[in-house]
Amino acid sequence: MAFGGLGEGERRMRILVAEDDATLADGLLHSLRHAGHAVDCVTTGPEADSAVASSAFDLLILDLGLPKMGGLEVLRRLRARQSSMPVLILTAQDGIDDRVRGLDLGADDYLAKPFVLAELEARVRALARRGQSSSPMLCHGTLSYDTVGKVARIHGEVIELSARELALLKILLQRPGRMVSKEHLVDHVCEWGEEVSTNAIEVYIHRLRKKLERGGVKIVTIRGLGYCLERPQAH
Ligand code: CA
Repeated sequence: MAFGGLGEGERRMRILVAEDDATLADGLLHSLRHAGHAVDCVTTGPEADSAVASSAFDLLILDLGLPKMGGLEVLRRLRARQSSMPVLILTAQDGIDDRVRGLDLGADDYLAKPFVLAELEARVRALARRGQSSSPMLCHGTLSYDTVGKVARIHGEVIELSARELALLKILLQRPGRMVSKEHLVDHVCEWGEEVSTNAIEVYIHRLRKKLERGGVKIVTIRGLGYCLERPQAH
């Protein structure tokens, strides 16, 4: 397949289109794929909700008038999980209230129907550029970690962690559901050229685990081997 549509410096994005109007969805799919992006499509609110809960998309294009669960509810649930996934909402021409509510709920941009595809493509390019410069967030259930600001939050509330605990958390968040060995942690936590023993790692993990527990985030010990951040429970 050719991806000739991407200009210089543009990145190929993974995009989810949530739109129940088949004609419009087809047009979006064709246009975005032609522009060089990987595109998936869903047609109901619950499908959109579970897709963005289980996969990381670079962009969600979200129709607000979706069957079974409205787009605003999909967006509210996405942000309640502390996801910073960029969202472009599609609203009715006269849907000013929906547009305002969508932006209040954390949508990044909107387009009123009907729109021309060239306008959509321009918005997508703008969001792609913004996505590249924004601070990378690692999210895991109720937990989010801003890797630039070095701030961890549970349910949006900052949790107090030491530099070592933050370093450990970041490593675990980069490999959710997978085992991380103590040796790997020892190698990657000593940022100041100072030795950290595996015993010290055990102490840091113990403290970190206590702080994360109240948010329902579990660090599982794999005896003799290492640790694993348990996958968040489905909502
Ligand atoms: Ca619709």
